[in-house]
Amino acid sequence: MADWPPSAGPNVHIQSYWRFRDLLEAAPDGILEVERDGTIVLMNAAAERIFGYKREELLGQYIEVLVPESLKRRHIGHRTEYAENPVTRPMGTGLELFARRKDGSNLPVEISLSPIRSPQGSRVIAIVRDISNRKQAEAQINAMHQEFTAELAAKNQQLEIRNREIERANRLKSEFLASMSHELRTPLHTIIGFADLLAEGLKGTLNPDQKRFVGHIQRDARHLLELINDVLDLSKIEAGHLELHPETFNAADVAGETIDNLRPQAVGKQITFVESFDANVMITADRVRLKEILYNLVSNAIKFTPEKGQITVVCSEQTDGVFFAVTDTGIGIDPAEHQAIFDKFYQVGSTTRGIREGTGLGLAITKSLIEMHGGKIWVESTPGQGSRFQFVFPRAESVSHAETAVEPDHRSERVVLVGMGQADEDVSAFLKQKGYDVVASEAEQLVATCRTLRPVAVVLDLPTPGAESWRVLQDIRAHDDTAQIPILALATDQNQSTLVSLGANAVVPKPVDPALLVEKLSNVIRRLPGEPPRILLVDDDAEARELLHETLRSAGLLTVSAAGGKQALEILARSPISAVIVDLVMPEMSGIELILRMRQNPAFAQLPVIVLTAKEMDLNDIEVVGRHASAVFLKAVPWKKDFLTQLYELLQQVTKA
Ligand code: ADP
Repeated sequence: MADWPPSAGPNVHIQSYWRFRDLLEAAPDGILEVERDGTIVLMNAAAERIFGYKREELLGQYIEVLVPESLKRRHIGHRTEYAENPVTRPMGTGLELFARRKDGSNLPVEISLSPIRSPQGSRVIAIVRDISNRKQAEAQINAMHQEFTAELAAKNQQLEIRNREIERANRLKSEFLASMSHELRTPLHTIIGFADLLAEGLKGTLNPDQKRFVGHIQRDARHLLELINDVLDLSKIEAGHLELHPETFNAADVAGETIDNLRPQAVGKQITFVESFDANVMITADRVRLKEILYNLVSNAIKFTPEKGQITVVCSEQTDGVFFAVTDTGIGIDPAEHQAIFDKFYQVGSTTRGIREGTGLGLAITKSLIEMHGGKIWVESTPGQGSRFQFVFPRAESVSHAETAVEPDHRSERVVLVGMGQADEDVSAFLKQKGYDVVASEAEQLVATCRTLRPVAVVLDLPTPGAESWRVLQDIRAHDDTAQIPILALATDQNQSTLVSLGANAVVPKPVDPALLVEKLSNVIRRLPGEPPRILLVDDDAEARELLHETLRSAGLLTVSAAGGKQALEILARSPISAVIVDLVMPEMSGIELILRMRQNPAFAQLPVIVLTAKEMDLNDIEVVGRHASAVFLKAVPWKKDFLTQLYELLQQVTKA
């Protein structure tokens, strides 16, 4: 206590002394003055409070009394070091410091040290700040942070689980919708088909009431079918399952086709069409979907335009892409509804009253399809004057004609060439160039060669239609397993009819014109000899078969029915069939499998196959059908007229000699 209070020197004013004393005592941090050997010589009130000692208990004690037991020894070392290099600095930078209270408990502290000179030698002033509250707050924040992080992680996990559940539910929903709509569509097609047959009066004339009733069935069943198709389309778009199949084509052609398809509806209301198409607007898009978009817009325009109105369809090339507009002079749409009409199931009730509405899904589907192509759609309309729906598809990449034109692939078609001489080498080279697999054979070996190689045709070039030609033709026709093989004979003009009478299916005059040779060859390959054309109908649904049977019978064709793929193959093996009409969805053996099996068997490899299905085809179906079927008809759209035309054409080809 020698220095406290300090002896008042002549320069120390007594008032300053008390001011400094008050300052020291009022300081919030503990302040201690320590001798070089560690003895505490001065401390303030805050130090008493922090450490729980009374002043007289600490003065004269070593500073280590305030250091936690475990650190005491190290502290003595630090103190000595500091005495050798005394500068003002915080103590233990970067470390958590603790001090010891009188009751033995530790408290977190921050300490700054400053050297000070006194008449008794150099000493150290230590300023000690109790940071318990700050540490506590930090600890609380930390705990809260950890708690929050844990909670967030748990929430994220829940969200992820929920997302997965939603994804699964979405998938199940679309699978359910797909199967439901198939289940619903199959009987609906049958209802529509039989109603159509009744309406055509094939089973007797209907009286006016019956006609009206059948008309109701036809119209409502078609409306229901439209709704099911729209719901399915939209659910597929929403589930991201709708695939686009882009190709490059002339956009104006599609716009023209759409108008042609809808013209009958417009004629009924005396609505005129104005077509404003730029020439050669090439677009890269899904052709079927573009047609669907235009079909929706133009049929809406017809629906909402009163009699004697006008519909203008524009298709033009613009800087940002291919632009389309469908403008009508119809009832128009209130500006307040311009956004909502693109929503699902939205129909403008008040303005369109009295007009038979659709499903309210058309514009929602249209908008989604346009956006899937990277395009956009918008509407301008004034009620009472008309509407203009406009949309743009991003710029078409030009694809040269050479890239799109595909040469027919004859690689699987093996042709046996019988003959000799330079002319045959030319024929052989040409057929090979066209992709046919050409094998040469001696006339005597022909039947044996045909038995091993199962060619799709024989090209016969014998010098004169003498005994040898006759014998070769007789030979091949005499054996069951070779009798069906088409024969194309090469002959000079005067010999042609003789060769046909000897059994050749077709004759190409010499010198051979390569284009004619290929045309005739592909004709005979498709040809089926004998009997009037019989069509094999393959469908597991008896009513669908009956509907087809009635449809074909009324068109003058004979039919044979099979309830499945296995039965179809048995029928094919024993009776001559000119064409096969197959459904894709069947139990046991699917239509796709049946087609593939037929194509693997040389005997039916070339038989025309028409697919008639209500199934939404996936990529695999499209590939198989595209490669192996002659035509595809979807029951979802009116198929009958085009179906019969196509069937007739195919039959003509196969029966043409
Ligand atoms: P819908 O199948 O009922 O036609 P859409 O989604 O195609 O359903 O159309 C939604 C609604 O938008 C229609 O019900 C009709 O009120 C309105 N709308 C669509 N096109 C036109 C148009 N060209 N003129 C007037 N109103 C239209």
